[in-house]
Amino acid sequence: MAAIVCKFGGTSVADAGQVRKIESILRADARRRYAVVSALGKRKKEDQKVTDLLYLCHELAAAGLDISEPFHIIRDRHLELAGDLGVNLDVAGLLEEVRKQTQGGASRDFVASRGEYLSGRIVAAYLRARFVDPADGILFTPDGQLDDRTYDRLDGLLKGDGLFVIPGFYGANPDGSIHTFPRGGSDISGAVVARAVRAEAYENWTDVSGFLMTDPRIVPDAMPIREVTYRELRELAYMGATVLQDEAIFPVRQLRIPIHIRNTNAPDDPGTLVLPSRGVSDTGVTGIAGKRGFSMVFIEKALMNKEHGFGRKVLEILESHGISYEHSPTGIDSMSVVIEDEEIAGKEEIIRQEIQRILEPDRVDITSGLALIATVGEGMAYRVGVAARVFTALAQAGVNVRIIDQGSSEINIIVGVDQKDYETAVKALYKAFA
Ligand code: ASP
Repeated sequence: MAAIVCKFGGTSVADAGQVRKIESILRADARRRYAVVSALGKRKKEDQKVTDLLYLCHELAAAGLDISEPFHIIRDRHLELAGDLGVNLDVAGLLEEVRKQTQGGASRDFVASRGEYLSGRIVAAYLRARFVDPADGILFTPDGQLDDRTYDRLDGLLKGDGLFVIPGFYGANPDGSIHTFPRGGSDISGAVVARAVRAEAYENWTDVSGFLMTDPRIVPDAMPIREVTYRELRELAYMGATVLQDEAIFPVRQLRIPIHIRNTNAPDDPGTLVLPSRGVSDTGVTGIAGKRGFSMVFIEKALMNKEHGFGRKVLEILESHGISYEHSPTGIDSMSVVIEDEEIAGKEEIIRQEIQRILEPDRVDITSGLALIATVGEGMAYRVGVAARVFTALAQAGVNVRIIDQGSSEINIIVGVDQKDYETAVKALYKAFA
């Protein structure tokens, strides 16, 4: 029988009541045989996520300081959870081991991974499921990429009947040491497991009923998105829609496994389905997402288009300073490179000087404090007037557009605006396409 992989996020394992909800979700469908879990998340706003506390413990330990204070919170939360669930597991013993390892100089990734390890052990004990440690099955290459051998290895570990619990967020380096995915990476673990077992669906259970057309902090009544394609989701998630980690689609995409984003607290809500393709929406636009915190390097030089290797040299300068870039809209005699603020912070002057010296442009400016907003939709490639609508909406809202970039994928129009105009711009775009 085809199986469904369920990933449960931090709030879905935050306390015993939540874990009981997981139990009913799993028991409601016999195909749900693989549960990937996050570390304990927040029960209420003031709570700290266990992963954040573990990072703090590691930082303190690395500075030779005492970790007791944050570790106590970690300890109490796990003991309380295990106690409330009545699990038969020596959680105090496991915690003591983690404390010793952390204080004893374990690596940052190892310490962070213990959040998922502990929640996985407790949930597995409660559900009487088999616990599979991803350190035995999820493998990374020496440069930190997922090793393709992962899928066969994991599949071998996940054979047999019954329910399996697999902690999210980590795997192992070639030398066996622990390596974590980026933050929010349990979403990627869930996708990796789904691909390994060739699941019929990957259900990602979280605390919202799927994606909304835009950020509800800016547009409180934003409409839900029922269906979205992998490509649209990748663009929306990368641009700040935070429901799913933006790399999570890659493992499942090749096998065309649908991702279903669902709400642990409202399991009957339809959620959002992420599919290889879908029918086109009325406006051609599926969602609007954005991020603050970008800088733009703008270079102008007469007859730039005739000069060989101009773009390469600009990018080489950035590369030599370890800076990766996001977009590069170009004109005939001008070129700009959009970079995340934190990539370029503190290096602006040296970059400016090197560009000046090596490329001798007429002008080079570096502007920070920009926000990028992506209007995303598969339909826009075949529809006339989407761009016109974007710019009319922004102009009517009095927003000055600083950057325009229509990605070559043709499913995305990105505009860059001053950070102060960010919310106004998102609201205007939502109104134009909702
Ligand atoms: N616990 C990790 C984090 O907070 C991974 C995850 O929950 O997806 O980033």
